[in-house]
Amino acid sequence: MIAASSHSVLGKPIEGWVAEFPLLEDLIALKETAWFNPGIAPADEALCDVGLGMADIEDASHRLQRFAPLLVRYFPELAAAGGIIESETVETPSFFGALGQHHGFMPRGRLFLKKDSHLPISGSIKARGGIYEVLKRAETLALAEGLIREGDDYSQLDSDDARKFFSGYSVMVGSTGNLGLSIGIMSARIGFRTTVHMSADARRWKKEKLRECGVEVVEHAGDYSAAVAQGRKDAEADPTCHFVDDEHSRDLFLGYAVAALRLKPQLAKQGIVVDEDHPLFVYLPCGVGGGPGGVAFGLKLLFGDHVHCVFVEPTQSPCMLLGVYTGRHDEISVQDFGIPNRTIADGLAVGRASSFIGRAVQRLVDGYVTVQDQELLDLLSILRDSEGVELEPSAIAGGQGPGRVLTNEAYLTRMGLDGQKLAAATHLLWLTGGSMVPAEEMASYFKRAS
Ligand SMILES: *Cc1c(COP(=O)(O)O)cnc(C)c1O
Repeated sequence: MIAASSHSVLGKPIEGWVAEFPLLEDLIALKETAWFNPGIAPADEALCDVGLGMADIEDASHRLQRFAPLLVRYFPELAAAGGIIESETVETPSFFGALGQHHGFMPRGRLFLKKDSHLPISGSIKARGGIYEVLKRAETLALAEGLIREGDDYSQLDSDDARKFFSGYSVMVGSTGNLGLSIGIMSARIGFRTTVHMSADARRWKKEKLRECGVEVVEHAGDYSAAVAQGRKDAEADPTCHFVDDEHSRDLFLGYAVAALRLKPQLAKQGIVVDEDHPLFVYLPCGVGGGPGGVAFGLKLLFGDHVHCVFVEPTQSPCMLLGVYTGRHDEISVQDFGIPNRTIADGLAVGRASSFIGRAVQRLVDGYVTVQDQELLDLLSILRDSEGVELEPSAIAGGQGPGRVLTNEAYLTRMGLDGQKLAAATHLLWLTGGSMVPAEEMASYFKRAS
């Protein structure tokens, strides 16, 4: 039965939507599901939708390099990596086996974990996009003011004069938590006045951590979209304020995309080949879409048709699946269909997709998978038991992916992924957050595993 059948969306009754898009029935019933997009295109075609290219990613990568000496000064934990914020990629045969047993599939190929959960400074994938956008803003202002010139050592921005200059400007963001954490920590350190608008579902410890860093935290009774809307409105009224717009920002997107440039040598070092006979499957937890979208974009540019990206969302918040599947993107929200958008996966609690991301990456993402909260908690336990790694619930969502891919004969056949290719495949779970979760909070997740 369809709970929301009395409503209509964009002037069409829910029954009409379900008749046209049958998968909506499972989405509305909050059932776990998977959809592999028959409309994907060859990489060189699909990439045209994005409106950005390799030169943009390289520009972002060089900017991060220019800031590396400053970051080492501000965050001594980055010294060993020379000021570059990057995570490890590690193989995990035992977790692959455990996952196969749990989801009832035969593990084929090799499984790796991309540990963005352990990125320095803010402990989530947001350390890529969020920090990048703050640094870009700082560079733009500092160059215009003549505080630095191109080619200078940016560590000279670690000065009272520079911080005084930056304190005349502000940075604002709306966030379910992790984006606020990344932006808040970096922005306050640079010297910007910083405000984070947070939704009601954001974790208390994230708010407390931000306040410790000198960030103003504004709490909202509504959800993520409401927090973003309020932040955007406040920022518009103030020309010295930069609003980091999670729903529209190209800078965030490019900051995420740099991950692909850095992943390529990591894979090569471990002897991983990605080509026609050796496909790469990448499973990315998806909220508003910027993080997974940016990473997928970078990977497609580098690996073309040989990389297969799959986004994973909570059954409570399948905004990207809904948007791409219906082609209505940000015109509709999951709540329009009676899907509550209440999930333990706070990084993924987004009811309406970004207007930019869905349209940009829709032809380069192979598929979309949904996962229930209880399943996330169970996957967290399975990962801890086999790898000793503890994460926040959002971060393990990718774990739902390999079983969905490896058991979907129709998809595999359509893509020409035969047994030989699957035996030579690499699967990469993008783990997106959790290393900063306080022990008490972490323990509560594991108590709830079934
Ligand atoms: C934000 C976030 C994501 C998803 O990124 P979006 O850009 O919102 O799609 C995934 N995992 C975690 C832990 C996050 O914080």
